[in-house]
This record gives sequence, structure tokens and C-alpha cells, in this order.
Amino acid sequence: MKHYLALADCDCFFVSAERAFNRKLENRPVAVLSNNDGCVVSRSKEAKALGLKMGEPYFMAKQRLPDILYVRANHDLYQATSHKVMALFKSFTPEVEVCSVDEAFLDLTGTKLLYKQNYIKTARDIRQAAWDKLHIPVSIGLSTTKTLAKLASDKAKDAGGVFAIGAAERRKILAQTLISDVSGVGKKLLAQMREECIFTALDFVMRPDYWIKAQFGAHGADLKNELSGIALFKVTPEGKAPLSIQQTSALKEFSRALEVLQAELRRHIHAACRKARREGAKATTIEVMLRTKDFRVVTRKEKLPFPTSEETEILPPAMRLLAALYTPAVVWRSTGITLAGLSYDAGEQQDLFRQTAKSDDRLGKVLDELEAKFGKDIVHLG
Ligand SMILES: [Mg+2]
Repeated sequence: MKHYLALADCDCFFVSAERAFNRKLENRPVAVLSNNDGCVVSRSKEAKALGLKMGEPYFMAKQRLPDILYVRANHDLYQATSHKVMALFKSFTPEVEVCSVDEAFLDLTGTKLLYKQNYIKTARDIRQAAWDKLHIPVSIGLSTTKTLAKLASDKAKDAGGVFAIGAAERRKILAQTLISDVSGVGKKLLAQMREECIFTALDFVMRPDYWIKAQFGAHGADLKNELSGIALFKVTPEGKAPLSIQQTSALKEFSRALEVLQAELRRHIHAACRKARREGAKATTIEVMLRTKDFRVVTRKEKLPFPTSEETEILPPAMRLLAALYTPAVVWRSTGITLAGLSYDAGEQQDLFRQTAKSDDRLGKVLDELEAKFGKDIVHLG
């Protein structure tokens, strides 16, 4: 059966995420700098047009191009935005393979009957929804194989955002495509191909199968099939959701002090709950771990009265477990929390006596949003 695959790729993702958050950055030359303000890691098209280079060191760029707005990378914001984008993709088809923070393969095969429209129209709808709901520009390439969909997405950027490679135009497009621009062609393979006078993707697929197999092995044969519209690489949606979330790290220095362990554990719980909320998971069991200076591990777990991903509900029992494990006679090396027995379904039983549930959920979300905007660790429950 033929599959219809899309590669959806966010345009200059870090810049776009910054713009979605701060609309003042729209239509202006913007560049995002790496964490330590070292170099340019994302450019708006206006910045690109001014001649700003990817990877250019900031100290050089700001002298050469002082009119560009340079923004420090906020990876929590990008991570949170990425989750929203992927969730939006998944609302169109469950068959989503996340490739990176800003890129995913979507298998649209089943959607033609569902939406009663062709794939190009569906791709346009996805693109429009990403813009309307999240203010993130997305380019989408469509074809019957991953390799062709990727090529199509590269073309989509200059073709109104959606580009399809069907059987009719495939040959023409392969003739226009340098083999070096095909994904899966690494440096070594490229050098070998040049030896054989293969410069375009068409040069490559015109060679006979047996010759390709002999020259470039199974990988070469796969690549030819993929470029010829025969899918070998399937879209594989994310693996199973995690069953537990663990957060642990060594103390800055060994300690006997309960307060030090408490502060550290609180930090871990915060990070673990945040991760759980991102995954849409709720814990039914928690386990607190302590490790002694000489690497002995002690743990204690407790079943929670109801599934939750809220710090306010996990902190008290966790602190009780910590107190039960703790003894001042021992020097401790590290502490950690595990959220286990994670449940993901919305079919969670509503506890009539749990009046706080709703407001707490909202609190957690607000904390996550604040962090996404202003950086990690700015907020903590006291
Ligand atoms: Mg991208």
C-alpha cells in the first residue's frame, strides 16, 4: 500500500518561538544566540537577508550588523513550544514521528477518507493551524517516501509552505537536486558518488540496481528505492510513553544536614512534576531515594491516594519518606525521586473529596508557563 508522508519542519524555529512569545519581534531582523551568548544559532529571514551567518560569533556579528535584534536562547521556551507544535500535528494524525525539536514525519495515509480532501489540502490545513493557534510558521513536504518528503520540505520554504513530489514531477525534481542535498548521503558516500560522476539525485537513480548495490551496498539500494518513490523507511510514532520519571543528582558536597537533602529533593520533585505535566502523565506511586557517601542506596515508596503530577500533592508524602529514611549519623551523597505507575488516560477516576484538584492543576500549568517564559528555576513552591 502506498503511504502519503509529510515532513513538517518549523521555519527558523528558535526565532519563531521567540516571536510567538513576543510579537514585537515580528517582521524585524532577529537572531537567537547560543546559551553563553557565543554565536548565532537561529536567524529570521530578515537577518539572513542582511548577511548574518549561521554560527557567526556574537562579538563579530553585533559589530558588523548592529541593527539585528540578538536574543539569548531560552531552551525551555523552545521545548514547551515544540510540545505544542507536536501535539497540534498529532491532532491531525496519530502517526507522528518526532525527529527533532522542530521537525516531524506525519503519515497522512489514513486522513484522505477522514477529512475527505487530498493530502495537499490537509497539509495546508496543518500549516494554517500551526500559524493560527501557535503563531509558528511550518513548511511541509509531501511525498510517498521519507527521503522524498524531506526533499519536498526543503522546496516548500520557497513554494508557499507546502510542496508535494508526486510520481509525475519526481524525475524533474531529482534532476534539479544535488545528490549532496539528499538526506542519508553522508560525506563518505558523497565522495564515492563523485568518483562515479553522480552529481544529481537523477544521476543516482538512473544507475542500475545491481551496480548501486555493488558500489554502495544495501544503504545505496535503499536510497535509490526511496528516491524512486518506493518507501522503505516507515514513520514510527514515538515509543511507548515512559512508565516512570526519575530525577536524581549528586549533592554539591556530601552532607549530613536534613535541610540540604530537603532542598535538593524539592528541586528534583519540581523537575519531575514538570516533566510529568509535559508528558501528560500522573504518578500513582512515589519513591524517594538516598545514596550514602559510600554508594549504599536506601529507598522508600508510597502509593498516592490519587494520580497526580502536582508538587503540592507530592511534596508532603515525599518529605515524610525522606524523614523516615534520614539519619544524621550518615553522610549522604545524593537524593532522588521517582514518579512511578504513571497514568496517561483522561479516564482517571474523579475523587469527589478532592476539591483541590482543579485549582492545583492550573497552578502547575502556570508554573510551567512562567518557567518557559522566564527560565528554569525561577519559581519554586516554598
Ligand atoms: Mg526547521
